[in-house]
Amino acid sequence: MAIIIDGKETARKKREEAAARTAALTGRGFVPALAVVLVGENPASLSYVTAKEKALTEAGMQSRDIRFPADTSEEKLLGLIAELNADPLIHGILVQLPLPKHIREDRIITAIDPAKDVDGFHPVSVGNMVLGRPGFLPCTPHGILVLLEESKILTVGAHAVVVGRSNIVGKPLANLLARREINATVTVCHTGSGDLGRYTRQADILIAAAGRAGLITADMVKPGAAVIDVGVNRVPDVSAQKGYRLKGDVDFEAVSVKAAYITPVPGGVGPMTIAMLLLNVVEAAENCLAHR
Ligand code: NAP
Repeated sequence: MAIIIDGKETARKKREEAAARTAALTGRGFVPALAVVLVGENPASLSYVTAKEKALTEAGMQSRDIRFPADTSEEKLLGLIAELNADPLIHGILVQLPLPKHIREDRIITAIDPAKDVDGFHPVSVGNMVLGRPGFLPCTPHGILVLLEESKILTVGAHAVVVGRSNIVGKPLANLLARREINATVTVCHTGSGDLGRYTRQADILIAAAGRAGLITADMVKPGAAVIDVGVNRVPDVSAQKGYRLKGDVDFEAVSVKAAYITPVPGGVGPMTIAMLLLNVVEAAENCLAHR
């Protein structure tokens, strides 16, 4: 039976670290603050934003919540970003994705000052990450690295297979896993990969970030592998209070019998994403204070 990786506990430690660093700043009269921008009423986005704002407050930081209706124009949103970039009381800017279809996410992300890009999605942040220079790392991939480290999962020489190549999870994660200090050999799979199992069965570390409930079945997993499930899928369930259940990309019951390590959904990667965001906000505030 696999060891279940407790993302909540590791996230708790990281949140404590963020709170301690925040207290040190606050003691100097400087309160880290994040602007959280939500456009529209996507229920999943709303719940992510609420969780992030709650975590910020618990860590002693400020969150400035900015809500816009779904029909807000791209120009209006760009105007807001320009204001937030110039606001000395705001250290980080988070625009919750996805944005409504008529707004080009690319344009919005690129408009954020890289010094306030605590999501790590700006091309400058991505470039710094690829080059191994200092900068904000994207929260979910960074959180996964921390989980691997905390669980003492050997990455050096391991074959890591990442299912998914999105800009926010798969691509940066693959890049980080190949860093010299991590030293995994990385395979990236996507919808063009054909027989997915052919690759996943070779994985010492298998990371599923496809957004397809139950995509990874037990026959696709090498015995003794570490399986990290990034997927968060709302699966309809009339017996559940909300009418749905959250499921990962991995068939947890069957895979946990075969793997050596596995993350649950919820309670695995998700809490880490928020914890790493808090640390990025503190870092942004610390950088700001250092450059005053
Ligand atoms: P995304 O932008 O939709 O990307 C999904 C990726 O998976 C794409 O690269 C896609 O391939 C690939 N894919 C989809 N179905 C596949 C299949 N059957 N076989 C192989 N590859 C497949 O999703 P995302 O934003 O990366 O998110 C992925 C999942 O993680 C979602 O469930 C999301 O909710 C969750 N997530 C969780 C957290 C967290 O904190 N826990 C954070 C971010 C995301 P193509 O490129 O070929 O289309």
